[in-house]
Amino acid sequence: MKMLIGGDWLGAQESIEVKDPLDNRVIDTVPAASREEVEKALQSAVEGVRVARGMTVYQRAAVLSETARIVERRLEEFARTIASEGSKTIREARGEAKRCVNTLTISAEESKRVLGETIPFDSFPGGEKRIGYYYRFPIGMVLAITPFNDPLNLVAHKLGPAIAAGNAVVLKPATVTPLSALKLAEAFMEAGLPAHVLNVVTGHGHVIGDDLVRDPRFRMVSFTGGLEAGHRITQAAGIKKIGMELGSNSPVIVMDDCDLDWAVASSVSGAFWAAGQNCIGVQRIYVMRRVYQDFVDRFVERTKKYKVGPKMDEDCDMGPMITEGEAKRLAGWIAEAVEKGAEVKCGGERTGAVLKPTVLVNVPEEATLHREEVFGPTVNIYPVESLDEAIAKSNSLNFGLHAAIFTRDINRALKAGYELDCGGVMINDSTDYRLDSMPFGGVKHSGLGREGIKFSLQEMTEPKVISVYLPDWRQ
Ligand code: NAP
Repeated sequence: MKMLIGGDWLGAQESIEVKDPLDNRVIDTVPAASREEVEKALQSAVEGVRVARGMTVYQRAAVLSETARIVERRLEEFARTIASEGSKTIREARGEAKRCVNTLTISAEESKRVLGETIPFDSFPGGEKRIGYYYRFPIGMVLAITPFNDPLNLVAHKLGPAIAAGNAVVLKPATVTPLSALKLAEAFMEAGLPAHVLNVVTGHGHVIGDDLVRDPRFRMVSFTGGLEAGHRITQAAGIKKIGMELGSNSPVIVMDDCDLDWAVASSVSGAFWAAGQNCIGVQRIYVMRRVYQDFVDRFVERTKKYKVGPKMDEDCDMGPMITEGEAKRLAGWIAEAVEKGAEVKCGGERTGAVLKPTVLVNVPEEATLHREEVFGPTVNIYPVESLDEAIAKSNSLNFGLHAAIFTRDINRALKAGYELDCGGVMINDSTDYRLDSMPFGGVKHSGLGREGIKFSLQEMTEPKVISVYLPDWRQ
């Protein structure tokens, strides 16, 4: 596939192979943008700012709705692209494509609700003869940078609100999974989005990232990805708005009064969805001592039933990690944890990029597997004596995207809701629950700002005050 710049589909001198991580088969190539193409995309987006501001709200909403309908009509094609270039099974990929339809539909709806307010200028002496209001205007040029793990819907989470707000965008999708993003860009163009409003450059972040991020023509960088790239982008960005959707190390608390079967089913799914490569994936589970052994036994039994590997099979539960290198990295972390005293209850075996779903107990707190974001199919289960201990341990690391608690006791549920230090607390669901319209984002090293269309629209617009002096007002 090619890049989208100024309404044209362009190649570059160099190209990048896109491979299926399961068998390393080359499924397509994309251009490796150089400085020259980056500059072309930026110039196009400057024109895009003018074009986008000329679009009425109903025109923006119509394009977004039509794009949603195109994705809906070609759902299977989108799902197959997601599943071929990335880690997801075909069932997981269909789920993501459906969510993308939802994200774009919400963007169309929310474009009509970007509201301002009147300002009571007479609330202070000297303002009696003034009336006025503020409205929210588009921020301008937005740079969107997206990760590999939800290659379609996380792109929609940036393009949807950026276009709904009346901005121009340059998108740089993840190099390992650029095809879903390019297909979405095709759908936008087919839906009638004018040239220049959306530009997509493909290329390695470490090669073109700094040129993009530093450029003063951008008014905002909206980034979703890992902490390391997040740090670098924050340092390079200069004076512009930054949205950071970063990683986590999500904790789940299991109380002894909960529906244990549901807690197990929900947490197994939350741990191994997308082969655990999920920013809200379950990583640490704190279980009350009284039900600990029962929980571990049921969790392991369910995990052992997972069918792993052939992503396109309808009954496949989990695919490979995104590269063999990533699977080797995680196998190394498991070995380190075992050396320090952890016990593998099931899984741990690796073939190529496929790492079996792995359940560990007795993981010491100094193990990398405990402290860092794992981003892979492993989960640690720990016994705790009280809710206070579980909350303290949940809060003990420098991440805070989602946390969860399973309990039938409303007091415990709400206490956890208030005391868990994170962007969202799921009660009687694992951390892996997200509705595309809810505010989504983290505290500490999990991020800055919030996504979820209505909330992204606030980030991607700025208030402008209009004050009118009326000398004859209130004689
Ligand atoms: P990543 O390595 O940080 O890459 C994310 C994106 O940033 C890619 O497009 C990458 O390009 C680009 N990039 C890398 N270095 C850059 C630089 N110096 N300047 C500009 N762009 C740069 O993350 P990933 O491995 O794709 O995704 C996994 C991470 O994303 C995990 O930490 C996960 O938790 C996080 N995530 C967070 C959320 C959330 O909503 N909070 C959602 C999903 C994922 P290349 O691909 O070319 O390297």
